[in-house]
Amino acid sequence: MTAVAATRIAIVTGASSGIGAATARGLAAAGYRVVLTARRKDRIEALAAELTDAGHDALAYALDVTDREAVDTFATAFKKIAVLVNNAGGALGADSIATGDPADWRQMYETNVIGTLNVTQALLPALTASGDGTVVVLSSTAGHGTYEGGGGYVAAKHAEHVLAETLRLEIVGTPVRVIEIAPGMVKTDGFALNRFGGDADKAAKVYAGVAEPLTADDVADTITWAVTRPPHVNIDLLVVRPRAQASNTKVHREL
Ligand code: NAP
Repeated sequence: MTAVAATRIAIVTGASSGIGAATARGLAAAGYRVVLTARRKDRIEALAAELTDAGHDALAYALDVTDREAVDTFATAFKKIAVLVNNAGGALGADSIATGDPADWRQMYETNVIGTLNVTQALLPALTASGDGTVVVLSSTAGHGTYEGGGGYVAAKHAEHVLAETLRLEIVGTPVRVIEIAPGMVKTDGFALNRFGGDADKAAKVYAGVAEPLTADDVADTITWAVTRPPHVNIDLLVVRPRAQASNTKVHREL
């Protein structure tokens, strides 16, 4: 990839589906040059082509956020970027602490926490050089409270929340703000299906009887709103849930 010079560049990780894809659309519509990254190259290329055909400026770059060498190579293409959306992540399993698989825990930590660390570290110089940078961390309400069966995902999302909060303290005084968006229940194609290893019945039960879970577009709208506030306005943390969900453990279901 050749070096990209413009300052209004927004990089979105995990842009191949769900919230990340919707966010890429939202930021493109808001006038950013969007760079879509994820492992599934075909999907991000298709979305970049769709956005380009619609008159936006978009390009795709296949990237595994857990691969630090690849992340560092990717980052060398950018001298200045305006926005980084750390969205790549997800859950594996809904086992109790007594029975959870350590391999799932490790993978969730690698993707949600180390992945966010890798990309943020690699792009912080370009965010700072832009003179007005924004780091978005897509945590979850699972980063702010626990629930039975949440186990490793709750632990990883708590760590991601702490990463955002600590980074904000450490870089205050630089022209970079840190925004954490913590969604509750969002019905996306991938999240629950991946969590339950492709078991569609188990995935469907997550949303059973819930009138209107959030959509990827709802969350993308929230992210785009937060990112497009004036530079001195920092939305530290925004928790967004569907009306039917009062907490991680209190969900109204019409069954
Ligand atoms: P999704 O549709 O499964 O999207 C997950 C995205 O992460 C995909 O684009 C996937 O792309 C990418 N990804 C996963 N591992 C990656 C890796 N190692 N390197 C690069 N990209 C990777 O799920 P979603 O619901 O949109 O979730 C997006 C984010 O929101 C996640 O961080 C999730 O934890 C968070 N969240 C979701 C919910 C919810 O209820 N859905 C609620 C709160 C927070 P590839 O597979 O192509 O790499």
